[in-house]
Amino acid sequence: MTDIPKDRSRTGDGTRAVRAGLPEPVKHEPTLPGPVFAAHFHLPGEVTGPYSYGRDDNPTWTLLERAIGELEAPGRDDVETLVFASGMAAISSVLFSQLRAGDAVVLPSDGYQVLPLVRAQLEAYGVEVRTAPTGGDAQLEVLDGARLLWIESPSNPGLDVCDIRRLVQAAHAQGALVAVDNTLATPLGQRPLELGADFSVASGTKQLTGHGDVLLGYVAGRNAEAMAAVRRWRKIVGAISGPMEAWLAHRSIATLQLRVDRQNATALAVAEALRQRPEVSGLRYPGLPDDPSHKTAAQQMRRYGCVVSFTLPTRARAERFLEALRLVEDATSFGGVRSTAERRRRWGGDAVPEGFIRMSVGAEDPEDLIADVLRALDESAESAE
Ligand SMILES: *Cc1c(COP(=O)(O)O)cnc(C)c1O
Repeated sequence: MTDIPKDRSRTGDGTRAVRAGLPEPVKHEPTLPGPVFAAHFHLPGEVTGPYSYGRDDNPTWTLLERAIGELEAPGRDDVETLVFASGMAAISSVLFSQLRAGDAVVLPSDGYQVLPLVRAQLEAYGVEVRTAPTGGDAQLEVLDGARLLWIESPSNPGLDVCDIRRLVQAAHAQGALVAVDNTLATPLGQRPLELGADFSVASGTKQLTGHGDVLLGYVAGRNAEAMAAVRRWRKIVGAISGPMEAWLAHRSIATLQLRVDRQNATALAVAEALRQRPEVSGLRYPGLPDDPSHKTAAQQMRRYGCVVSFTLPTRARAERFLEALRLVEDATSFGGVRSTAERRRRWGGDAVPEGFIRMSVGAEDPEDLIADVLRALDESAESAE
């Protein structure tokens, strides 16, 4: 593989996204080299160079890791990015490589629904787990003596936001590392490393790849020693991305800015339409000027995401609403070009009301989507009579 081409850190997001991670052009070669399927590489004699065994490294990962690195930390060459089999593989690689028995860690109490399982595992290994809600910077109160602060902002599914710069400052002042789950924002919405965090961790399964057909995760970090431990963890656990998934992800990043701008603009329009409806309560979208998250979000985010959360009066009403939608699939996950929505309580994990809906806004025409949502709200009310 060839070297990283000239500096793209000063271009716009769209320009950077379409070229992110591409090697210098080579005559008769494709712009984005195809996936390299290899369990092992020719390795005569001494072990030199990066590619020897497919669990340790792969040229298709290398290009994708460069692409994500260029988006998470444009213009910085002190940042290392590692891709993983899934967002959970990436999250676990940071937590389990950095924490030892006797350490304390601060996790969000309102974060991704698998975190309670991670918590139980950490506790089984003798790590003290403290939790705090995302909004209001409540993490500050439980930070004392912690080794790692884990932030999820905006939080999934409640869409609360915390002041990342402020929390990083407090954590670093007492020697704690900070990791930010950047899944919901994507690197075009928020760049945690520039806000001071040590790790930006994300699921690439969501809006980063955006087509609902790939599971992927990554860790970008600027602390070389910590990242060496994360890399070692990937090798030990073997939670590696397949070359095909890595290649699909890289191909999808070319359209990231297009998708994000379209989906996020429509998400704001959907939120504005929902707020007119008397049956909708607890409407949350960080891009709404009067959302409780907006002030802090505006200080640290450049785009506000494609997820809108709201609550309908009852479980039955929410179920009828989801069933009445024609352009929005009842499915979990978020960030894809096809809109999805679900009643979050069906999983049992999140502390949300029975009628709580998390909607992921896709790339459909905004008028079509809003009309579908409003019609489904009307129909779900009528059938209650
Ligand atoms: C989906 C998600 C994850 C987990 O990612 P997977 O790719 O499904 O393993 C982690 N954090 C957040 C905020 C998520 O939304």
